[in-house]
Amino acid sequence: MTPRLRLAVPNKGRLLDPTVSLLRDAGLVFDARERSLVSRCENFPLDILFARTEDIVEFVGDGVADMGITGRNLLVESGRPLEVRAELHYGRCRLEAAVPADSRFQATADLDGCRVATSHPATTERFFRERAVRVEIVPLSGAVEVAPRMGLADAIVDLVSTGSTMLVNGLRSVDTLLTSEAILVSSPGTDGPASDVVTMLRAVVDARERRYVMMNAPLSRLAEIEALLPGLGSPSVLPLARPDMVAVHAVVNADETWGLLGRLKAAGASGILVLPVELLIQ
Ligand code: AMP
Repeated sequence: MTPRLRLAVPNKGRLLDPTVSLLRDAGLVFDARERSLVSRCENFPLDILFARTEDIVEFVGDGVADMGITGRNLLVESGRPLEVRAELHYGRCRLEAAVPADSRFQATADLDGCRVATSHPATTERFFRERAVRVEIVPLSGAVEVAPRMGLADAIVDLVSTGSTMLVNGLRSVDTLLTSEAILVSSPGTDGPASDVVTMLRAVVDARERRYVMMNAPLSRLAEIEALLPGLGSPSVLPLARPDMVAVHAVVNADETWGLLGRLKAAGASGILVLPVELLIQ
């Protein structure tokens, strides 16, 4: 019997819903209602372990799970030598150093001698040490953004996605320590069936960023239309019942689709259809 792989995923918080959607989009069938412990995939030899986001690196590092999905910031903070097998393109955020908006500090170097509150003490300590800026780290596990107001610190290092929490708390960013997103990790050297999971999840992530575009085009303007469609190599050109027309199919980048449609129409394309791509294996 093939041993079942164990994939640790967040059991709550902001990475939970997008992670469950990713696994479902990959075609994995499992029950996510009972999130407390383990969910068995019905159609793949995989057990999904629901765990605290901040424990996932540990689970994979200690061999409790073969693979895990967590934030890059947590992997960097842990310092553990796990392999990043895929970037999942959600949970995007930045770890930023910030000060009260009215403070005199403008740059990282100005923070010499300051107290810096953070839930990422190892990353913060390394960042300032590498820049020869001496700071006192105040480790906190949450509500870092209120530390300056409470007189606990002069500056903070915290995760930011839209920046609205910083704004609401009267803070101004002075530097970015790292950018983060959800990642798929494994212990070094994990191969075999784990590679199938990597392929599966990458196929979903890559597909989400693409659209399948189909259109009819006058044969006389085919070269013009082909030139607009970089996509994945060369577009498919199929004959139609009318000899002066062809159908052109291509995979394009999702975020370029709207700009492209107008140019395709101007080049003579008609009946343009834009379809989602479910899986893309490059
Ligand atoms: P959780 O605390 O379980 O909601 O998960 C927090 C993780 O979500 C962080 O470690 C980051 O990897 C990611 N994340 C994405 N955007 C943000 C944000 N604005 N603030 C905090 N965490 C974020």
